[in-house]
Amino acid sequence: MSDRPGESRGKVMWWGFTRRCARCGSGHLFRHYFAMVPDCPRCGLHFEREQGYFAGALAINIMATGGLFAVSFVIALALTIPDIPVVPLLVILIPIALFGPIVFYPFSKTIWIAVDRGFLQRLDPSERADERFGP
Ligand SMILES: [Zn+2]
Repeated sequence: MSDRPGESRGKVMWWGFTRRCARCGSGHLFRHYFAMVPDCPRCGLHFEREQGYFAGALAINIMATGGLFAVSFVIALALTIPDIPVVPLLVILIPIALFGPIVFYPFSKTIWIAVDRGFLQRLDPSERADERFGP
């Protein structure tokens, strides 16, 4: 949840899914596809709150791309059983496994920040150290 009233968890999560700042909704958080700026250009929120903070983004990336792979695999099996086209399936599924995490990488970071701010930091207000020095 943001510190501003009226900014719902849904809105904060939407900002995360659209690579926007989880506090103010600003875009332009990436210098290029993989390089995130350290602080929000509009509100100054520092994104990496502590060392290892983005391990949560890694977990989200693994769950999202692994989930996509698993669901695609099960649907393909269910639709084609008993004559499973192994080679076409591999042609589709291997790129998902290889490139999915790369494509999803920036989204996983902003989604993680949104999850952290929308759900986790609410549990312990004393953890919100970034708010004390923010504008
Ligand atoms: Zn911001």
